[in-house]
Amino acid sequence: MNPFIELGIRHDIVNAISELGFENPTPIQEQSIPVLLTGSNDFVGLAQTGTGKTAAFGLPLLELLDFEENYPQALILCPTRELCLQITNDIKNYAKKMGNVHVVAVYGGASISDQLRQIKRGVQIVVATPGRMLDIINRKAIDFSKVKFVVLDEADEMLNMGFQEDIDSILSTTPEEKKTWLFSATMPTEVRRIAKKYMTDPFELTMGEKNTGNVNIEHEYYIVRARDKYAAFKRIVDFNPDIFGIVFCRTKIETQDIAEALIKDGYNADSLHGDLSQQQRDKVMKRYRDRNLQLLIATDVAARGIDVSDITHVINYSLPDEVENYTHRSGRTARAGKTGVSISIINAKELGKIRQIERGLGKKFVKVEIPTGFDVCEKQLFSIVHKVHSVQVNEQQIEQYIPRIMEEFKEMSKEEFIKRFASIEFNRFLDYYKNAPDLNAPLEEGRRFERNDDRSADRGTGVSGGGKSEYTRLFINLGSVDEFNRGDLLGYICNQSKISGRTVGKIDVKGVYSFFEVPHADVEKVTAGFKDADFKGRPVRIEISGEGSSESRSGGSSRREGGYNRERSGGGERREGGERREGGFNRERSGGAGGGFRDFSGKRREDRPERRRRF
Ligand code: AMP
Repeated sequence: MNPFIELGIRHDIVNAISELGFENPTPIQEQSIPVLLTGSNDFVGLAQTGTGKTAAFGLPLLELLDFEENYPQALILCPTRELCLQITNDIKNYAKKMGNVHVVAVYGGASISDQLRQIKRGVQIVVATPGRMLDIINRKAIDFSKVKFVVLDEADEMLNMGFQEDIDSILSTTPEEKKTWLFSATMPTEVRRIAKKYMTDPFELTMGEKNTGNVNIEHEYYIVRARDKYAAFKRIVDFNPDIFGIVFCRTKIETQDIAEALIKDGYNADSLHGDLSQQQRDKVMKRYRDRNLQLLIATDVAARGIDVSDITHVINYSLPDEVENYTHRSGRTARAGKTGVSISIINAKELGKIRQIERGLGKKFVKVEIPTGFDVCEKQLFSIVHKVHSVQVNEQQIEQYIPRIMEEFKEMSKEEFIKRFASIEFNRFLDYYKNAPDLNAPLEEGRRFERNDDRSADRGTGVSGGGKSEYTRLFINLGSVDEFNRGDLLGYICNQSKISGRTVGKIDVKGVYSFFEVPHADVEKVTAGFKDADFKGRPVRIEISGEGSSESRSGGSSRREGGYNRERSGGGERREGGERREGGFNRERSGGAGGGFRDFSGKRREDRPERRRRF
């Protein structure tokens, strides 16, 4: 039997939700539906966003109301317009196969007369944001005297937004004997207080521990210098070619600045904040929902309640003021059982805040290093390869062109063709990242803050705790005069000595020579690999550096051992140093080799004294 039927939901609703892909109830639905279906309890559900709570209260409401009658029987209050529209839409979908179900969305920023007209026509379920609801009540345009159920959704958020008084006034128009169901992601004292005020002996349900974020979210942070923040952010995006993300900023201005800079740099991004008109906001959200936008840059308030499926990354470009907000932000990803990553880009001074969020969430964050330009190029290359593999061919449409295409390539070998094909995209990144600097905050700065970061020790960075180094520093008699940069040199070393790029540590390119680090265990392999090697007719010399081994690795090492990058198809040995220099640049994205990622430093904002934050 369908598990929703077993919970007591009737067939026409179950058929409708099956079409939405609901096969099994989520844990909150499983536990709350039987309780709420009795219709005789007040209820407090402590549940994160994305757990399926809309159906947890929506389905019982559809069972309990009398749809033969056309007066308001249920009122759902929620903090934002987006959430209001979402809940309305969800309930309409659940009720698709029922007759005479009328749900109205009441929210600010849209025509009140349309909403009044719908109310006048007769509704059973009102989904509303408090401000507009109160406005309509004050116009005496609605009668809540026969309301049976009130749902307070995201109650903590409504209180955060200062709706306490409005909620009081609205609820005072509903009957004493109604049942109140309250859902909240967190349970601060104020929420406890309203629970106490409006409810008698409520049934309490806690999904997961208090404040614990969704377990499917991996939390990561990067430490960068303030001036490198934007460049680091872009690099993270480039390292995740299939990213579909929300980027959180703290102010409208920052949101706009970042979105503008990204657009200028050729990214598919737009901003969402309170200064936009409703129409503009709708347009942006539509593009995002339809996946015509890859990056949505938003403020906390504007993004509240957004439920877009399959968001892969939440990026905290600036950390929020409060732990609760972090939970809300990160809850935009990993919805409905999916996984997601929540990334914070911070400067070393903000590490304390990360620790506080960790304590609040009861979850450890993983410190990750900003990928090197070389890493990005590799990732992009394999993304292209993957795309070629999985592309859907429209046989009918392309058929007519095939003979001509074949003719064009008839002289070319398969290997040559593949190489060229992949290079079309790859070259842009190669060229752009050719001289890409290391964007991780320097060791001296980072180490002071790393002492307690046992995670990085777990991940074998060789940085933490002042422990003994795992690396040997080697000298090589090639340098920038030989047209090597760090990436080139890494490729050359890996190619020559057949070691993986993952294992190579810090690379220091000087004029006529360079240094690089390899694990002690690889030293022999490297020296053997370079035995009798020559570069453009000159013998290549490798020696163990007399300066002793450095403890640091600054180039994307720890990241490689965990996090979302586990699937990497590494192997620097596939690349050749020489190939990288041939790369032409044919894309709008970077705005020119070597220039794009430097032209927006973010300095203006970052140098401003920080506002006191309430952590
Ligand atoms: P909510 O917490 O209500 O915002 O729900 C989060 C997401 O989970 C929404 O996209 C729902 O459509 C989806 N969802 C809710 N319940 C289920 C279920 N039982 N099976 C699959 N998806 C669900």
